[in-house]
Amino acid sequence: MRDLLFPPKCSACGQLLDWMPEATASTPIRAALCPACHKKWENERLETCGICAKPINECSCMPKILQTAKCKGFYKLVYYEAQKVAPVQNKILYHIKRKRDVHAIRFLSTELATSVEELIQAEELAREDLVITYLPRTHAARLEFGTDQAEELARELADVCGLPMVQCIRRRYFFNGKQKRLSYTRRIKNAEQAFLPSRDVSCKGKTVLLVDDMVTTGAGAARGTKILRRAGAKAVYCFAIASDIVNKDTVR
Ligand SMILES: [Zn+2]
Ligand SMILES: [Zn+2]
Repeated sequence: MRDLLFPPKCSACGQLLDWMPEATASTPIRAALCPACHKKWENERLETCGICAKPINECSCMPKILQTAKCKGFYKLVYYEAQKVAPVQNKILYHIKRKRDVHAIRFLSTELATSVEELIQAEELAREDLVITYLPRTHAARLEFGTDQAEELARELADVCGLPMVQCIRRRYFFNGKQKRLSYTRRIKNAEQAFLPSRDVSCKGKTVLLVDDMVTTGAGAARGTKILRRAGAKAVYCFAIASDIVNKDTVR
């Protein structure tokens, strides 16, 4: 019914969607991208990391600041390059940030879920020890766009993986700075002050999967990792849709 009132459109190019991909019983996802954009997205996913030369899904490179915070692994779907001529990743990121695009969020969460399952297998993690959390957006941004894309991604990812989603990190209320306009050092300093542990949620003894939509400097994710570890998390792994390849501090 909703699709009749709001015909489904491609999250990247805006073209009307007239195809429905195969949906499985466990993950009934509807298309977020048209066939052409989906193909482009798949190609972007196949790109190799400029630092370790591995395909992005096997790459474990992370900003140094994240490594220093003792993040155990950093999983991303794509590397982000602002200079690139409008690839699908840029558009889909923009789309989930500005609009409440549930199909795009569902699609990206399903893509991220593959990394989560690979991690569980590779590290032999106990599912009952796992929780998913996220790095909350500023209150101002939440009001402006009516959504917190990191929270929605985390909720969907938890749903797809059958894991609990808990809010372990909160934003300091009076912090309204716009990260985007700030210098690298200033962003790191701000991130230090922006996040706090949640008052009544414990992640003690848990392996926490920290979700963010886009990791640029890594300052926010690093701060989040520190908070979770101080709160007693056994291990913290970060998950993002995209990571900024031009981050000068990325290490293997
Ligand atoms: Zn398209
Ligand atoms: Zn790499």
